[in-house]
Amino acid sequence: MAMIIDGKKISGEIKDEVKAKVEQLKEQGKEVVLAVVQVGTDPASTVYVNNKKKACAYVGIRSLSYELPETVSQEELLSLVQELNEKKDVNGILVQLPLPRHIDEDKVIMTISPEKDVDGFHPQNVGNLSIGRKGFVSCTPAGIIQLLKRSGITIEGKECVIVGRSNIVGKPMAMLLIQENGTVTVSHSRTKDLKEVTNRADILVAAIGKAKFFTAEYVKEGAVVIDVGMNRDENGKLCGDVDFDSVEPKAGAITPVPGGVGPMTIAMLMTNCVEAAE
Ligand code: NDP
Repeated sequence: MAMIIDGKKISGEIKDEVKAKVEQLKEQGKEVVLAVVQVGTDPASTVYVNNKKKACAYVGIRSLSYELPETVSQEELLSLVQELNEKKDVNGILVQLPLPRHIDEDKVIMTISPEKDVDGFHPQNVGNLSIGRKGFVSCTPAGIIQLLKRSGITIEGKECVIVGRSNIVGKPMAMLLIQENGTVTVSHSRTKDLKEVTNRADILVAAIGKAKFFTAEYVKEGAVVIDVGMNRDENGKLCGDVDFDSVEPKAGAITPVPGGVGPMTIAMLMTNCVEAAE
C-alpha cells in the first residue's frame, strides 16, 4: 500500500501561508494584483481561469479579468500585455494557454515582462532556473517539489525519471530536481525501452498526457510516483497518466488524480504572485 500524497491538503497549507503574507503586505499598504487574460471561451480554459480566480479571492489577491474574443488579433493582445506591463498596480500577468492558432504563443510569452511573468514561461525566467538564479518557476514542477518536500520525501541522491519534455512541465522539472541533487533522466516519445528507464526510478514523474498509460510494470517496487497527467478516461472521468489501481499497490508513494499535482499548480501561482509583489 502506497502513501497517498495529498495535494489538496498540502496546497491548502500553502494557500494559507500565502494568505498570511498577502495580509502582511496589505498592512504595509501593498495590494497583490494579478491580471488574468483569457482569449475565447474554451470550456477547459474557463474552468482553469475560474479556479485561479477563486484561489486569488481566497488568499486575498485581487484578480483583474480580461476576456478577449477568439477573433482578437495578435497585435491587440500584445498591446494589452504591454499595457499591463506598464501598470504599476499590476504585479502579475497570466495569459491562459492555449491561444487560438492565429496567435503566436511564444511572442505573447516573450512580451510579458519577466518581473510579472508569474507562470514562469518567459525565456529569462527559464534561463534563470537553468543556471540556478532566482526567478519565477513554472508552477506545476515547482508544486511537485513542494509535494515531495512536504511529504518528507528526500530527493538528494535519488534516481529521478521524468517522462515528458515539455517546456512547462518536463524540462523545468528536470532543472528543479537537479537543483535538489537528484540524478535526473528525461525520457520522451523517442526513448528506447521506456519501461527499462522508468524501472530505474526512485522518483517517477509522469507527464505525457495519455490516460492511465503507466501500469505497474513501468514502476519499480517502492517508487514515488508523481502523476501530472490530466486526462479523461473512457467514461469521461478525470484521470492521470498513471493507472492508479495497478500502480498503487507497488509504489511507495503516489499522487492521486484529481487531488494530487493539480491543486499544487494553482497554489504555486499564488506564491509567485506574492513574490512578484514583494
Ligand atoms: P505535452 O503534450 O506538451 O508534452 C507531452 C510529452 O510527453 C512530450 O515530451 C512527449 O514526447 C511525451 N510523450 C507523449 N507520449 C509519450 C509516450 N507514449 N511515451 C513517452 N513519452 C511520451 O504535454 P504537457 O507537458 O503540457 O502535459 C502533460 C500532461 O500533464 C497532460 O495530461 C496535461 O494535461 C497535464 N498537465 C497538468 C497540469 C496540472 O496542473 N496538473 C499542468 C500542465 C499539464 P515528445 O516530446 O517526443 O513528443
